[in-house]
Amino acid sequence: MLPADPMTTANLLDFDLEGLAAFCERLGEKRFRATQLFRWIHQRGASDFSLMTDLAKSLREKLAGTARVEALQVLTQNESADGTIKWLFDVGDGNAVEAVFIPEDDRGTLCVSSQAGCAVGCRFCSTGHQGFSRNLTTGEIVAQLWFAEHFLRRHLKRDERVISNVVMMGMGEPLQNYAALVPALRTMLDDNAYGLSRRRVTVSTSGVVPMIDRLGQDCPVAMAVSLHAPNDALRNDLVPLNRKYPIAELIEACKRYLAHAPRDFITFEYCMLDGVNDQPEHARQLVELVRKHGISCKFNLIPFNPFPASGLLRSPQARVLAFAKVLSEAGLVTTVRKTRGDDIDAACGQLAGDVKDRTRAAERLAARRRTIVLHPARSHAASTTAEEP
Ligand code: SF4
Repeated sequence: MLPADPMTTANLLDFDLEGLAAFCERLGEKRFRATQLFRWIHQRGASDFSLMTDLAKSLREKLAGTARVEALQVLTQNESADGTIKWLFDVGDGNAVEAVFIPEDDRGTLCVSSQAGCAVGCRFCSTGHQGFSRNLTTGEIVAQLWFAEHFLRRHLKRDERVISNVVMMGMGEPLQNYAALVPALRTMLDDNAYGLSRRRVTVSTSGVVPMIDRLGQDCPVAMAVSLHAPNDALRNDLVPLNRKYPIAELIEACKRYLAHAPRDFITFEYCMLDGVNDQPEHARQLVELVRKHGISCKFNLIPFNPFPASGLLRSPQARVLAFAKVLSEAGLVTTVRKTRGDDIDAACGQLAGDVKDRTRAAERLAARRRTIVLHPARSHAASTTAEEP
């Protein structure tokens, strides 16, 4: 059989259940057929309509002419000594994105990308240094989970679910790809698909304030915020989006989000950068900040994974622990993230893929770095990336 023509057929991975029901109606089918189809695709990993034997033959024939289930092509797969697996997926036009599976005793977490590159341009992030090409479609976001879940079931010879948690912490700023993100999240949560708990799906954001509010209304899940600095001067330098949405506005948005969130705290991610944001004074400023806003939160300190273009170094472990102690002694729950998969460049902030930069973001970051080297007094404080509560 010839492969379905992508120009004239719909990729069913682009639809949440509601979208698939509307598609079935357009084919003259009852909405409940969408539930059957959705289960075949997401729960059983099927992509060949002819094998979906409980669907009427007439429907299977209609689907063959109008629809497809389009997986992403795997360019590379790397497995770390600690069991972490990283895939590089081709998304066309010379772009490739990465997804990472992190196995633990009590859970399996998939870190998923939302964009080819990222336009935010955080200094400590490898993706940010590559610039931005385009948003992923819903289908391309979901395809990372679809592929990983069914690959892992076959690989581990398991019949039941392998991936229990998803973190939108791969390449990209998910809230700058909102329209594609929300149906993808709904598919992850749907009991007819992956059935993940809202508490176990985490969106990580660098702080797109209006979209934090919308997500609270449309599809609340757990939230992690890449804070990385205790004051605006430092955060402006590390996370350029801070110039648009400064810390006070961001934290107030987090407080509003908590009214809808499945967890009663926000996780603040804080990448520890040697001599930049890792001093006791920065920890004390964080304590003050949190107290001033009265936000319920946890801190996750992330050892920085250095890469040459960043010009930044990892904080020594003793400094990270001292920093954590200041926060803990002030009553803030604080964890230090375990580094996973760093032998295959799959650790936090290391995801790079391949990006045809259309924004000159990489160039701008390089220029900023030159300025900082020339004027070191500017780089005095703060930090970085994400994980799950
Ligand atoms: S940390 Fe996140 S928001 Fe910042 S550049 Fe990297 S991918 Fe983009």
